[in-house]
Amino acid sequence: MMRKLVFATNNDHKLRELRQILPSEFELLSLNDIGCFEEIPETGPTLEVNASQKSFYIWNKYGINCFADDTGLEIEALFNEPGVFSARYAGEDKSADANMTKVLEKLGNQTNRKARFRCVISLVIEGVENQFEGIVDGKILTEKQGQDGFGYDPIFIPDGYLHSFAQMSSNEKNQISHRGRAVELLVDYLRNLK
Ligand code: IMP
Repeated sequence: MMRKLVFATNNDHKLRELRQILPSEFELLSLNDIGCFEEIPETGPTLEVNASQKSFYIWNKYGINCFADDTGLEIEALFNEPGVFSARYAGEDKSADANMTKVLEKLGNQTNRKARFRCVISLVIEGVENQFEGIVDGKILTEKQGQDGFGYDPIFIPDGYLHSFAQMSSNEKNQISHRGRAVELLVDYLRNLK
């Protein structure tokens, strides 16, 4: 079975989430662990292409089995924006606060506040790719709520819950989140590898 994997992300929050979610039978290496300190390009038109771009970058350069995720917040009333542009929605400095402010301003008094996080994981084992998708449906709040989490967490409330992602414990978020769901599929797949 495949036990040692690199998670190709420069985002410490994601790395921490994954260390919590991934069962201890897997050894998760960070980019720092393998001596990769450069920013990995993500220039594709879709989450799927970006996730592949990141995992194949590591496979091609370091020859290590790895996975990468790409996530987008898709808001119905904004025609699925910010989507693949989620990180840089309000500009190249990738400010989470500015991104949330832009979303809230664009939505204004819009009553349709339906949104979803979609996460695509690209896994590359010995040069062969598999992808896994996780989705969580919810709504965009009218103002930021909560301090924890990262990115758009303070303005996203998952369906069936009373609190934003930023008001939940990381365990609670991981159990229902887009990334948590995609990782569940990833783990099922890895466990079934010979
Ligand atoms: P990427 O997958 O790192 O490209 O993330 C795209 C954008 O979505 C970034 O702005 C992240 O902050 C945001 N994002 C990704 N995952 C989450 C999450 O779990 N909660 C809130 N925002 C997220």
